[in-house]
Amino acid sequence: MAKVVLIGSGLAGGLLAAYLGRRGYHVDLYERRADPREGNIVGGRSINLAISTRGIYALEQIGIAHEALQHAIPMRGRMIHDKSGALHFSPYDVDPKNCINSIGRAALNTTVIEAAQRYPDVRVYFNHKCTDVDLDTATARLETDGRQLAARGDAVIGVDGAFSAVRKSMQREITNFQYDESYLAHGYKELTIPPGPRDLWQMEKNALHIWPRKSFMMIALPNPDGSFTCTLFWQFEGPRSFATTKTDDDVRRFFNEEFPDAVSLMPSLLEDFRENPTGSLVTVHCAPWFYQDKVCLLGDAAHAVVPFYGQGMNAAFEDCVVLDQCLEKFPNERERAFAEYFSRRKENADALADLAIGNFIEMRDKTASKTFRAKKKLDHLLEATLPGIYLPLYTMVTFTRIPYADAARRARLQDRIVYGGLISLLIIFIALLFRLIAH
Ligand SMILES: Cc1cc2nc3c(=O)[nH]c(=O)nc-3n(C[C@H](O)[C@H](O)[C@H](O)COP(=O)(O)OP(=O)(O)OC[C@H]3O[C@@H](n4cnc5c(N)ncnc54)[C@H](O)[C@@H]3O)c2cc1C
Repeated sequence: MAKVVLIGSGLAGGLLAAYLGRRGYHVDLYERRADPREGNIVGGRSINLAISTRGIYALEQIGIAHEALQHAIPMRGRMIHDKSGALHFSPYDVDPKNCINSIGRAALNTTVIEAAQRYPDVRVYFNHKCTDVDLDTATARLETDGRQLAARGDAVIGVDGAFSAVRKSMQREITNFQYDESYLAHGYKELTIPPGPRDLWQMEKNALHIWPRKSFMMIALPNPDGSFTCTLFWQFEGPRSFATTKTDDDVRRFFNEEFPDAVSLMPSLLEDFRENPTGSLVTVHCAPWFYQDKVCLLGDAAHAVVPFYGQGMNAAFEDCVVLDQCLEKFPNERERAFAEYFSRRKENADALADLAIGNFIEMRDKTASKTFRAKKKLDHLLEATLPGIYLPLYTMVTFTRIPYADAARRARLQDRIVYGGLISLLIIFIALLFRLIAH
């Protein structure tokens, strides 16, 4: 069986190694960081994430969904915090069983790596950093402990995240390789709400909390130990921004003005703000995602998106399912398998990138408004009265496996029909009213 060199044992790398191991491939997985089981904290990335239908399906296919989700916390809707501290709950779906789940990144990472290691032909090497890839010979050059080494396979798959070294080699070597990256003007910083007395959650546990403030926002996801991880998404530059908020007084004043109900729950706010890094948010588009039968990209390495739809990891896990299906379909023609995987995923990854940007505006600005809440209620009413016919966009993206691009198209069509219909009804109603008054 062929040998595959995987670069990056993050969330998708571990899962892909398990899928390939099950298919009988010899897999050598190289990760630049230390083993997450040795307490290696995933620096600069979110501590917890929301996993939903697509991600769970991918875990189920390899038989680890139960193990992975045992400590996950279901979040049934958005809990909106306005400036006065008033709370509004908006369920994610008309079916209360449809929820997203807060899951710890490090624990999930460990679960997928351990799942991969159960296959006899999967080996994982930590503290090995890929510096570049020779595409024609499918050879990854690596550094470990100051030594250089080369790992040659029949194929190299880059699962090495948004700043992929494998992708950089493709950029350098492939003529007409298309590449585009765009950074948001916003960065993010993680902060903590610790557990309350008796290790209980100090806010509603089964919700994703949002403090929408128009041009910026804070969110919080629950952790199993009773704490919440908050993430502040805020402009890097500008009169009120990360750049101008330097001193403890600045931080205290900003939080007291914007998030007064949260401040009292955040005893380590000043320390967290000072010490935690400010991360950047990038969208990556590139093409193609493969070179002959030798090199392929998967997950953020192929299509990093901003995190506002909570789908980056879910999409990366879905990539694993699709690549596995393509390898099954073309067992002896790896280039065709890579090509089919690319053609099935590219349009969907592009659609997700747009959806994720759109959802940032919805979360930080629109969730606070009464119109938003009314639209969500109308969505749920239509979903309940027209089951299987009308599906809100959020439901399609989060609680189904309808390809992202199809979901976006269908939502646009539904909106045209529903809002076109409502406007027509309104016009007819006004016309009738005028006739009545005229008589
Ligand atoms: C703030 C934030 C919140 C998010 N929330 C969600 C969410 O709620 N739901 C969701 O679905 N997604 C979320 N995401 C997106 C999610 O984190 C990513 O889509 C997901 O981690 C992608 O998995 P990956 O395996 O492709 O990349 P990564 O998880 O980034 O893993 C890449 C791995 O490759 C390793 N690596 C990198 N370079 C090299 C090299 N040169 N050599 C060897 N190893 C290397 C890295 O150390 C890492 O382990 C969020 C992202 C952010 C930033």
